[in-house]
Formats: sequence, C-alpha cells, structure tokens
Amino acid sequence: MTTRHGTKVTATSHHQHEHDSRQPGSIGGGEVGLCLTRIHHSRYTAATPVVDPVRQRRAEIGVDHERTVADALMEIHEGDIERISATGAGAYRDTETALANGAGVILGGKVASPDGTLVGAPDILVRMPTGYAAVEVKAHLVLGTSGTPAWITPLDALAAIDFSIDIPDEAQGSFRPNRRRDLYQVAHYWRILDALGYAADHPVGGVIGAEEPFTCAWVDLDNGKQSILNTTIDQANQALEAVRHGSDHPDTPLVAPWWRGECNTCEWMPLCHEALVAADDPTLLNHVSDETRTDLVLSGITSISQIASLEPTDERLAEPSVVLQARAWTHGGLLRRPGTPTPIDVSNPRRQVDFDIETYLGRIYLAGFLVTENGESVFDPVVDWEGTETSEADFVARLFDRLASYGDDDTCVFYWTSYEPTVLGAAGERFDLTVPGFDTVQDWFDTCSLDLHRWTKNRFVSPSGYGLKTIAPLCGFDWRDDDPGGQQSEIWFEEMRAGDASMKQRLLDYNEDDVAAQLAIRSWVLSRDDGSGPGSTVPSAADWPQHTHSGPTDCAAESF
Ligand code: SF4
Repeated sequence: MTTRHGTKVTATSHHQHEHDSRQPGSIGGGEVGLCLTRIHHSRYTAATPVVDPVRQRRAEIGVDHERTVADALMEIHEGDIERISATGAGAYRDTETALANGAGVILGGKVASPDGTLVGAPDILVRMPTGYAAVEVKAHLVLGTSGTPAWITPLDALAAIDFSIDIPDEAQGSFRPNRRRDLYQVAHYWRILDALGYAADHPVGGVIGAEEPFTCAWVDLDNGKQSILNTTIDQANQALEAVRHGSDHPDTPLVAPWWRGECNTCEWMPLCHEALVAADDPTLLNHVSDETRTDLVLSGITSISQIASLEPTDERLAEPSVVLQARAWTHGGLLRRPGTPTPIDVSNPRRQVDFDIETYLGRIYLAGFLVTENGESVFDPVVDWEGTETSEADFVARLFDRLASYGDDDTCVFYWTSYEPTVLGAAGERFDLTVPGFDTVQDWFDTCSLDLHRWTKNRFVSPSGYGLKTIAPLCGFDWRDDDPGGQQSEIWFEEMRAGDASMKQRLLDYNEDDVAAQLAIRSWVLSRDDGSGPGSTVPSAADWPQHTHSGPTDCAAESF
C-alpha cells in the first residue's frame, strides 16, 4: 500500500513488528543522512567502535536538556499529556494507544512503520488540528540568521502554528542549515505517522533547540522540489539498501569509506582512517569528495601520490591546493609554499611570549603565557578556577594588565587563530575593559602580537590541515596528555568543578603544552637552516618530484 504522501508500506499489522530497539533491517530517525558506511559498520562490523568522551559528554548534555524540556511540558500541559514509560513492545503499544486516544502531547513515544523498516523514538508528538507531527529536542542552537524558513511557537501552545504567515516571505525564524539532520529526523517520524494513519495533513516537523526561553521552530517539510521530505525518503531508501547489502556482504560495505567532515566525530574513524591511509586514498585531501574520487579513478588516478605528480592547474581538480597538499602528504611533512622566499621571516625578538586561553561555556578561566628570554622559557599562567561572573571580571582585568606588560618593542606575543582576539574582545566589551594603554583589545593585538596560525599557513603547505595539533607534531612536538583537545579540556574543567582536584594540573599541563607547541614550530623553522637562513632546508611544494620521498605518512585526522 502507498499512503497519501507516498510512504510505501506493506499491508502487515503494525503490532506484528513491534520492537524495542533498532532491528538490523530497519532505519531509525537519527540515522537518516548519516554516512552509509557508518550504517553498515554499526550493524555488521565486529570491531569495537571508539567511544569518544566528547561525544559521550554531548549525549549526556542532550539527555539533560530533553529532561528539562519534558518536565516543563508536563507542568504546562498537565491533563493533556502522556509520558510513555513502558519499554520494549509495550512502548510501541502505549504510543499507538495515546495516538488513538488523541492525547495533546506524547512524550518519549516509540513508533514503527507497519512493515518495520522505519522505526523511531520521537521526543515529542504533538496533536495538530488534522493529526500528529513530531518534535525533537536538541541541546544546540537551531535558529540563525539564515536557513530554512520557520514558524515559531511557545511551549504552552506548541501546535499553534500560524499558517496564515507566509513561508518563506514572512518566516518568524530561520532554521540553521548545519542542523538539517534534525529536520530529516522529524521528517522520518512524520513518514511513520503517515504510514500509521496518524499524521497531520501537511508534513511539518518541529525542533526545540537550546534557545531560551524555549520555543519550537516548525518547518514545512514538503516545500519545493528538493524538499526535506523528499531528501529524507531518498536517504532512508539508500540506508535501507546499504543495510540489505550488508546482510549479504557483512565484510564489504555498499559504499566504501571516504573522508568527510562527519568522520571527525564518527565512532568508526580509526578503522576508516587506517584503511584510507593504507590505500593512499585521494579523499584524504581537502576538496576531494567521493564524486571527485570516482572521476579521478575513471582517468586512471587512484592515489594521493599520483595526484602529487599532476600539474597544480590540472582541470580534474577543484583547485591547485589539492596538488600541493598531495605533495606535502606524500613528502610526509610541511613543504614551503610556492612563492615563499628563503630565508623565511621568523619573528625572533629578545622576549617571545606564547599565549593561549582556555574557556568554558564562553567564559575564560585560564590564560597561559610561555615567556622565552635568553634561551630560557618560563610558563606563567593567569588563572581563575572559581569561574563565576564576578571572578571572571577580576580575572580579565588581571589578564589585560599582563597583556599590557608585554607591550614593549622588544616583545612579540604569539597566538593561534583569531579565537584569542575574538574572545578577549568580547570579554572586554562585557566588562567594559580594555588593555591599559590601548583604545581597544584589538588595537593591542594589532600592535603587539602575531597570529602564528596565519603565519604558518601563508608560508607552508600542510599534509592534513592547519590545526595546532596537526602542525606541531610535524615539527617534532608531542603533547604530554594522550588525549589533548579543546573540547576534552572542557570535560576536565567540569570534572575539576565536580571535585577532582587533579584536573587542575591536567588543565595547566595541557595549556602549557599548547603554548610550548607554538614555540616548537618557530624553533623547527629556525633549525631548518643550511647556513642561508631559517627554513632553507624545507623543500618547496613547487619542486616535484623530489629527489627522495619518505612515503605516505599516518597524518593526524583533522577537519580541513
Ligand atoms: S569514519 Fe567516515 S567514512 Fe568511516 S564510517 Fe565514519 S563517517 Fe563513514
């Protein structure tokens, strides 16, 4: 049978297919739009997925947020709200009963299409005038300055979409493009409701994000040719095909892995990265997608080392940087960017200060300074372990005084990316402070400091991105912590606040290594000197092939 909105279902009883967890042959709402290789691995690969503490922490925050919103809804909609507490088959049965009884709001329901291929656990089901629609609760911001036009409703009138408001011309909000997968999820649930005969006439789906006060952003799922609903149907069909293929070929995913942004947060990243590195796979390069890889294969190019030998202007590639990156990858380290003269200009004043801040929820609590003078380096941080608004004001004043003390002509302060100027500028505005002697915080940065990230990127070609955690190891630097990262440090800060005093030292060590890493990069450039100046022994990416190749390297994975 095909429902009025095109969801194909078989004519079997819904109850025959009730199940509590995702079955191998079904697709859940959170899977729509995911990498198909990932969907395969999650069902058929024996290896253990890697549990990323940052991802795990985000999931915990998500659960807390869902609970907060659910509690608020229970209070607001008392008497017309159903919270599904059963597990297993009972959860599906109770959800369908609540739908059949016309409950105003259903929390924590479970639904499955009659043929069992589409399953889902919508956070909220809302009764609209003509049927039900799904709402997801997300602990991230969903509204932005551009994106999919949305209607906005308050929690006490969730279903009160004002359809007289024209979408898109008079939209009440814009749903962020980078949160589109939230919409695939609610579209997936709408399909199931449609297949069960409970869906509202017009496909809409809502998301309650982290915006306060809480509101629901509703989106028309069936707007335009490339609608969210059509995309959801296509992607779910592809996912089901990958699942069916996997049941016959558990060792061979339907879609071979290719490197993309999703890999950085994927539990199968080590497995895929190792395979891609071993294959010298072109998708490890920036601007090389799965499609580009297919086109390259058709012209006989299957590896990064082959791309390295092409002319940078080769039309098969999106831009010259692909060939330069391929050369750095094949070389196994940094190459001099074509056009960068030697000796390379390295700022080398009498006093050098490497600077890096740590923040928690946008509030600065640690500013690390590694002061190097006369060949000696001393780590001298400014710290605020209290982390309150009052303590931060005092901390920012102390920090700005410190910055002012590094304002002489014999000193240069180095930092990595625009994060420091942006966050410190915002803190200055928040507390109506500036660095003493300077009109604005930005004036201080313009006069006294140097963005080492930009400096590095302008002079060198990296095999795999320009993050500090990528560049410094290529210059021989290692972090003491075996799991360094800004997001990890937020978890350590939380643990410190929860009473684990050892985390203070871990945070200090991590911050000290971040600033030491910056110094190591400059030291590396200074040491690459054949007598004609810094960087003179670093090969140029313009000279290819090189006389000696070190072969492929297991470069750190990074979002490019
Ligand atoms: S690491 Fe990347 S290619 Fe591999 S399963 Fe995850 S998202 Fe897909």
